[in-house]
Amino acid sequence: MERVVMKFGGSSVATIDKIKQVAQLVVQRKQEVKDLVVVVSAMGKSTNHLIELAGELSNEPSECEMDLLMATGEMVSSALLAIYLNAIGSKACSLTGFQVGLKTSGAHMQGKIENAGSEKLDQCLAEGAIAVVTGFQGIDEAGEITTLGRGGSDTSAVALAAVLNARCEIYTDVAGIYTADPRIRQQAYKLDHVTYEETMEMANLGAKVLEPRSVEMANRYHVPLYVALNTGDIIGTQILSEDERMEKTTLTNVSKIDEVLLVNLKAGDNKDLNITECFLRLAHAHINIDIISHTVDHEGNRLTSFTSTTGSKTKIERILKELAADYTFTEDVSKVSIIGSAMRNQTGIAARAFDVFYAQDIPFYSVSTSEISISYVVDTAASNQIVNALADEFGL
Ligand code: ADP
Ligand code: ASP
Ligand code: MG
Repeated sequence: MERVVMKFGGSSVATIDKIKQVAQLVVQRKQEVKDLVVVVSAMGKSTNHLIELAGELSNEPSECEMDLLMATGEMVSSALLAIYLNAIGSKACSLTGFQVGLKTSGAHMQGKIENAGSEKLDQCLAEGAIAVVTGFQGIDEAGEITTLGRGGSDTSAVALAAVLNARCEIYTDVAGIYTADPRIRQQAYKLDHVTYEETMEMANLGAKVLEPRSVEMANRYHVPLYVALNTGDIIGTQILSEDERMEKTTLTNVSKIDEVLLVNLKAGDNKDLNITECFLRLAHAHINIDIISHTVDHEGNRLTSFTSTTGSKTKIERILKELAADYTFTEDVSKVSIIGSAMRNQTGIAARAFDVFYAQDIPFYSVSTSEISISYVVDTAASNQIVNALADEFGL
């Protein structure tokens, strides 16, 4: 094989021993491929630790300083891995986001990748060395260090694979993409193949194993994407395009997102809340809103609800107060979703899923569908039970 980008997440490089284990797999892979790039995340939970340190000094640290601070985590792990690779006789050079020309645009702490590639990276590969690159970070037009949003190292790896025309292998603490988060469902099993579309839906609906933008990018630039265990000794999951997949299963995954905030708005005849104005103000404040439902009760009141994240609660509350809205929040809720591209041409899936909720006697607040998924907003306390019950029903 010509070119491969391997990516190792925080749990895979959490300790010196784990870095040594990763190095063994990297050395082995280098014997099989000509050009090898290794993208690493910060060690263990060190990004969280850096954020906590800043929090001890300021309630609202500048996002520009936060980017610089958070970017240091990946520099530590990439430098350590390159130091060890050289120590065991494998030529390697560590490179930062800036040194590999990973250019970003957009707000600090949520940079979007515009481009990647540099002479330095080409030179390192041309010399036969392993390029060990910091994930999660780039540089913007103004020359400032930026980061890509939490979990962004997956996206760094895919971006480099796209520009290098390489295969991208994501190594993590599970053996691939499972039918459900194995931490929630013991019986979840690894999928050998899954489509880009399903993987994108899963990632967007909470399957943390891949960052959503990384899958979107892999799909757009036709990057072959593979997810496997960080020891490399078990065959992982290959992401395929729809027409490459041989077998069709009914559903491929049940996912969930916690820390959902349900916002309920009431607009009676005499107190007409302008929903458009409300949504516009939320958009200007960069608040993402998700499942929207709208009903009229028997007294003629218009009831609108939407979901967002608990992290946005303070900002949402401020906007609703400014609009003198009649609102309530429902907290401690989660979004549970079933996903599968076969949903497009199979009937009866919704009926079976609804039946699971009735059989378990678990109420839900709202439902939304896409072409290949159905999502339910439920109390977090009941969310693991319903994930398991839905997985039982659909054999996931
Ligand atoms: P890394 O540190 O390698 O980036 P992450 O913690 O971001 O790893 O992602 C791996 C975790 O994703 C697993 O430990 C698992 O608990 C979780 N996960 C959630 N849904 C799934 C799924 N469908 N398949 C596999 N893992 C999943
Ligand atoms: N270290 C960063 C984070 O914890 C990026 C990553 O792990 O992908 O979010
Ligand atoms: Mg991750």
